[in-house]
Amino acid sequence: MAEKNKTKIPYEKVDTQYYSQWYNKVIEEADLTDKRYPVKGMNIWKPYGWKLMQNIDSRTRKHMVNTDHEEVKFPLLIPEDEFQKEADHIKGFDDEVYWVTRAGRNELDIPLLLRPTSETAMYPVFDLWIRSHADLPLKIFQMVNVFRYETKQTRAFTRMREIHFFEAHTCHETGEEAEEQIKQDLEIMEKLSKKLCLPNLELKRTEWDKFPGAEYTVGVDSLLPTGRLLQIAGIHQYKTNFAEAYDIMFEDIEGEHKYVHQTTYGMSARLVGAIVGIHGDEKGVILPPAIAPIQVRIIPITYGDKQNDILEYCQKIKEKLESSDIRTDIDDREDVRPGSKFYDSERKGIPLRIDIGSNELEDKTLTLVRRDTSDKKEYQFDELIDKVKHEIKDMEQSLFENAEEFLQENIVDADEISEIDENKIYRIGWCGNRGCGEEIEETTDRHILGTLYDGEQYNGECIICGNEEAEAAYLCKKE
Ligand code: ZN
Repeated sequence: MAEKNKTKIPYEKVDTQYYSQWYNKVIEEADLTDKRYPVKGMNIWKPYGWKLMQNIDSRTRKHMVNTDHEEVKFPLLIPEDEFQKEADHIKGFDDEVYWVTRAGRNELDIPLLLRPTSETAMYPVFDLWIRSHADLPLKIFQMVNVFRYETKQTRAFTRMREIHFFEAHTCHETGEEAEEQIKQDLEIMEKLSKKLCLPNLELKRTEWDKFPGAEYTVGVDSLLPTGRLLQIAGIHQYKTNFAEAYDIMFEDIEGEHKYVHQTTYGMSARLVGAIVGIHGDEKGVILPPAIAPIQVRIIPITYGDKQNDILEYCQKIKEKLESSDIRTDIDDREDVRPGSKFYDSERKGIPLRIDIGSNELEDKTLTLVRRDTSDKKEYQFDELIDKVKHEIKDMEQSLFENAEEFLQENIVDADEISEIDENKIYRIGWCGNRGCGEEIEETTDRHILGTLYDGEQYNGECIICGNEEAEAAYLCKKE
């Protein structure tokens, strides 16, 4: 394995195996997670990693509350008979479910399962909560852990058996209102992805790849340096599929009983995995400023008799930054050399570093270092807040734009199956037939991630059957 300072991941296609080594190394060095828990696919969130996740959750929560969703917390266990009401849903999750069949020494009459997602926990209760149109729309969300028996090789944050999960569930009077909800979810996603610096494609999944039980699914995918797409969110239109299975009806204004129209919006700790993968470099992770647990780390470079004055000056800078709500700390460990402190700050992905030595103390200045570019700039103490805010904004924009450029550069058109041989996203013509779709997937060993949710003009033919009515479909390997 490469040495610490040689684990460079160039910001372009990288070998999958190498990426894996790099990824596992940087998340550990950043102290985000501990993978030594003795159950496969179940890791420990370490304090720094959990703060990061909580910062992401807080942003999500704010968006949800602002769009009239209310937070709930449903039980973890679901009775088997409730789980088995929607046929497609069961088929989709059956192989992944963890069961509780015994309590103490007694076999349970009705086995319980650990939620793999919460439709079957919530919807029997929605039937009780919803009586008339006055109870609609019902918009709730929760942030909980879900369990899925992942059979592929697990990976921290992105492919886990215990998953930190966000799920929003809504019920509406009409199909149009449910469609509007999906648009609102995508707007929230767009705002979030700006702050998380995760440019993405919103793709309407194929029939055979949609969420089990859904009418259709919009997958939100980000591109990893390996050229594989990682799904970071899923938004699902259920129409009345679940309402019919769970008998969720309301009385409309004319007194008529109708099924509610439902949607869901889900995200998970995968967001952390995407951030690590997309923005990391040879030194480790790079955290987007909006969600970084520490946005600025101050490093005193103390020598001899100036030590106390330097520490005092650092404290003054910290207080000033904190008064502007900028998350700041000081690495004031006494027996650690500045070089090691720089290194720690880098591998934790802290966006900005401020170095304070005797020159800065004397001149009332500070040296500001950006994590993503390593640019070093000297500023006056008086301009501290303006400059830090400016750098935060600039860094956020630059992380997003670099990743967006990488994404766009890696979308290539292909007219023939034989052209599809690299780790890129191929835009191909597809007639929409399942037969052609499956042939595309089998011969290229890739997945059709779908067609753009917003739609697009396309003039090519189906890459298999030559049908001229083809749509542009996106083909890629999945993470
Ligand atoms: Zn075709």
